[in-house]
Amino acid sequence: MSFKDLYIIKPLLRAVADSGYNEPTLIQQRCIPPIIEKKDVIASAQTGTGKTAGFALPILQLLFDKQDAPKRGKKARALIVSPTRELAVQINENFKTYAKYTNLRSAVLFGGTSIEPQIDILKKGVDILIATPGRLLDLHKQDYVNLDYIEIFVLDEADLMLDMGFIDDVKKIERLCPETKQVLLFSATIPFKVEQLASSILKDPQRIDVTPNKSIASDISQILYYVPKRNKIELCLHLLRNTIKGNILIFRRTKFGVDKLEKTLLKNSYKVDSIHGDKSQTDRQTALNKFKNGYVNILIATDVAARGIDIKELDAVVNFDLPNVPETYVHRIGRTGRAGNIGTAYSLCSADEKTYIKNIQSSISVQIPIEENHPYPLDPKAKPIVHKKQGSKYKKGRKGAGAKKKKKRWY
Ligand code: AMP
Repeated sequence: MSFKDLYIIKPLLRAVADSGYNEPTLIQQRCIPPIIEKKDVIASAQTGTGKTAGFALPILQLLFDKQDAPKRGKKARALIVSPTRELAVQINENFKTYAKYTNLRSAVLFGGTSIEPQIDILKKGVDILIATPGRLLDLHKQDYVNLDYIEIFVLDEADLMLDMGFIDDVKKIERLCPETKQVLLFSATIPFKVEQLASSILKDPQRIDVTPNKSIASDISQILYYVPKRNKIELCLHLLRNTIKGNILIFRRTKFGVDKLEKTLLKNSYKVDSIHGDKSQTDRQTALNKFKNGYVNILIATDVAARGIDIKELDAVVNFDLPNVPETYVHRIGRTGRAGNIGTAYSLCSADEKTYIKNIQSSISVQIPIEENHPYPLDPKAKPIVHKKQGSKYKKGRKGAGAKKKKKRWY
């Protein structure tokens, strides 16, 4: 099948050809026709499947068809809400690439950076808005964003959006758009809470599923290392010295863990950078660019910061900390072995993560080969370390003193 067979219009076909795409990916084949027919769509698709073009191309096509408004004072007619800044930036880059032979303009709005340049862009008028929820609501409250003309509303990475606590913001944004709008919901997984959200905002949606959640591509090899928690950094260094080569993405569960590992790797003269939720937008974007352009070959990230980020040609993914959700493991390791390349996923499992690996293996129906030949083996009888709770007296004291503990974001 070609993009022509999907009745894509010429200016978009030219842009797609410039991008070097020969044929539509599966998600594009399935998504583009119903979106062009103005149907609501709920699609379960992971990053890397080409889902951005799957919604960007038909959206541009729908907007192009009645593109007669003057450039200035244009009203936004499509809104894409994305959970993270990096993802929003990436989606905007995609829109710009595909829209280059049209007059359609897109803009990206995200928090953690100065609001003025975004206001200036909005004043000039745009057709497509890509935004993170908080900044969008902020700009709407200040009357710089008008959602009254939105015809297409896209929720990208919906499961992550809900995990990050954006449910109320998402509902608020949805209500600010006209009721008649077309709604497209994309999610790597469709857990119950995404279903619930979908049933409240989508009308008779077309369901598309191109990613069987539990399948692992055959070109990814997996290796498991049992290691005491205290030796994980040493084992990681040992593997980087002797085994793991090329472009490497290392996952840690927390931003503190990311920082700690980055410091150690820097001290050991590795070319490394990192992304997590506490870093400024500029720092995160710089880190990503450095990794993509080959200035560093190791990127350390939390799941949330790395979600949806398009990184090509990964040789290895390292699960420094194992995720407690099997789907997260599948997403993580799916980033390597893409486009016919062979990739390897290395997982370091400590005693307290044994349940995670058990659940992962039963979820993917694969026994991951164990590498026992390494300098930091885990005693098979090792029990998880149980952290003692702090005394109740201490807790009372702090509460009594009115010291309200601020909930910290961990991602
Ligand atoms: P996404 O899943 O949207 O993040 O896309 C992942 C990568 O696939 C991006 O680098 C896109 O540029 C690329 N891509 C999207 N559509 C196609 C296609 N039809 N053929 C080849 N590459 C594509």
